[in-house]
Amino acid sequence: MEILAFGVQDDEKPLLEEAFAGQHEVRCLDVFLTEDTAPIAAGYEVVSSSVNADLNGRVLRALSAGGTRMIAQRSTGFNNIDLEAARRLGLTVSRVSYYSPYSVAEFAWTLAMAVNRRIVRASNRTRDFDFRLTGLMGRDMRGRTAGVLGTGKIGEAFTRIAHGFGMNLLGWDREPNPACTGLGMRYVDKDELLSSADLVSLHLPLLESTHHIVDATALSRMRDDAILVNSSRGGLVDTEALVEELRAGRFAGVGLDVYEAEAGLFFLDKSLEAVEDDTLARLITFPQVVVTSHQAYYTHEAVGQIVDATVRNVADYLAGRRSENTLCPAG
Ligand code: NAD
Repeated sequence: MEILAFGVQDDEKPLLEEAFAGQHEVRCLDVFLTEDTAPIAAGYEVVSSSVNADLNGRVLRALSAGGTRMIAQRSTGFNNIDLEAARRLGLTVSRVSYYSPYSVAEFAWTLAMAVNRRIVRASNRTRDFDFRLTGLMGRDMRGRTAGVLGTGKIGEAFTRIAHGFGMNLLGWDREPNPACTGLGMRYVDKDELLSSADLVSLHLPLLESTHHIVDATALSRMRDDAILVNSSRGGLVDTEALVEELRAGRFAGVGLDVYEAEAGLFFLDKSLEAVEDDTLARLITFPQVVVTSHQAYYTHEAVGQIVDATVRNVADYLAGRRSENTLCPAG
């Protein structure tokens, strides 16, 4: 069978081809699966999509009309998929429920320390042979307080690193994680976490109940000199409200690997085009902000595991099996 994979990065293509070798052909496209590109899938029973695909009802209907029966999403988060519509259409949808949580947790820490120690600014200066330290002063993490919103797999890995730094640990989650409690994490309510933490890191899925969980009110509770890191999903943060706070001179650092309007921007080269997104443009101008384009998962280990799980998900579909990765049909 030939499988059509959308949104494949150049580095990912050989991994995907190798993982399917001997079982199926895979045709890799760099474009994302959207309403405009869905017609390309006509005739493909199995289609694989990536994190910024827009799998709304219209796209799913177009896929179904073209003969697609299975969609193998190559990410953990599935907030971009209308599962109700997929169910109605009788489509099988899978995701990758587990891959190296260290990839994302280590990247969240990379962002935290990059903004804390002003690494981007320092590097830009030394490239210009400007070796002054003015404006580059950071803080020791030891003895400070890390607040982790969402202490599942990635939040736990983030917490272990915070523990290694010698930080006080505060957590917020609907289900406390015993591994985090074992590291000395104290679960508190969200307001206490936001007002006490020197570093707030987000590791929640994007759901209706978590959309804009960091809104103007939440941001107003945070310390003026706090660091905020979001490596989870852009929609967790009200970006307009964040820009307002930054305009008021608040926060020592903000590291964002995700942005609520990232679809159509992230993963693409927009360097020769006029910037249409004023909020993102403004965000990037703040000296204490570092934005990366959804690369937290992008390690050899994590991408390899995503690809391997995708191959297993397709094999499960063809054999009529369900697994913990099956989103639809519901078990
Ligand atoms: P997980 O399911 O292991 O952990 C999520 C945690 O959030 C769980 O402990 C759960 O109890 C908690 N939670 C869920 N809904 C909640 C709510 N309404 N209130 C309070 N707590 C709630 O997931 P994970 O593997 O740790 O991944 C977390 C998120 O990270 C994913 O959903 C995804 O959006 C994001 N992610 C980002 C990247 C990236 O490259 N930037 C890569 C992978 C995952």
